[in-house]
Amino acid sequence: MKFHDAHCHLADKDFMKDFDISTAMKKWKKSGLEYVIGVSSKISESYKILEMRKEFKRIIPGIGIHPWKAKTQMREELKTEFRQIIHDNEIIVIGEIGLDHHFIKKEERYLYQEEHFRFFLELAEKNRLPVNIHLKGAEEEASDILTSYKILSENILIHWYSGPKKVFNQFLERDYFFSINPSVLTGSTHIEVLKNTPLNRILTESDGNVKYTIDNVRVTGSPGIIPEVLSKIEEIKNIKLEELSVILQKNIRIYANLVGDKI
Ligand SMILES: [Zn+2]
Repeated sequence: MKFHDAHCHLADKDFMKDFDISTAMKKWKKSGLEYVIGVSSKISESYKILEMRKEFKRIIPGIGIHPWKAKTQMREELKTEFRQIIHDNEIIVIGEIGLDHHFIKKEERYLYQEEHFRFFLELAEKNRLPVNIHLKGAEEEASDILTSYKILSENILIHWYSGPKKVFNQFLERDYFFSINPSVLTGSTHIEVLKNTPLNRILTESDGNVKYTIDNVRVTGSPGIIPEVLSKIEEIKNIKLEELSVILQKNIRIYANLVGDKI
């Protein structure tokens, strides 16, 4: 059975401490991993994930700056570097990008977060690229900002949504994708997202290297955990696993502009 991971910090140095990527990729591939979107939180990780892609075509590189890292105005040279990466690479996802007013309490940084977010959305719009979005505690603000860019709804992924129901419904109406996270195995309210999102708008993600406590066991998020997420989706959506796998693999191809890819 094939599966994907639409949001994993493969190039994060802590993740690389937990996993030897070459060995792990072979193991995950054996268990059915078809694609993993390796999101980045900063420019150095963006370069690292591009390097990893050279070895593993199953890795879809995600480039960007996480809202936690948007601490100042964005330097022009940095913007140029990101534009160059997009110019040089055909298969790219933009992420992890977005806003965070929940974990980041310093309001003076919100302006910088928005500046970074808008820069990347503009890049996505111009280059027709998919975006992988974090919007913790700033759901309404992010929702408003998203309406000012012409990005296809099928190229917009809301990662690990846990915000107000009102904004969730707006996103559903706009037909965005939602990635279902292993927190559905831990009794989290994220399960409501799974229950209310149609199957043709669901992707799965680990958000590795986030740690989860599942049945009193501490587990590091990685593509290896996705089969358990699939079992939960199977149960909640009352669908056969094989059928579910086919739908989700079609979804990731649509979202990441991979339609026609024969991997
Ligand atoms: Zn993440």
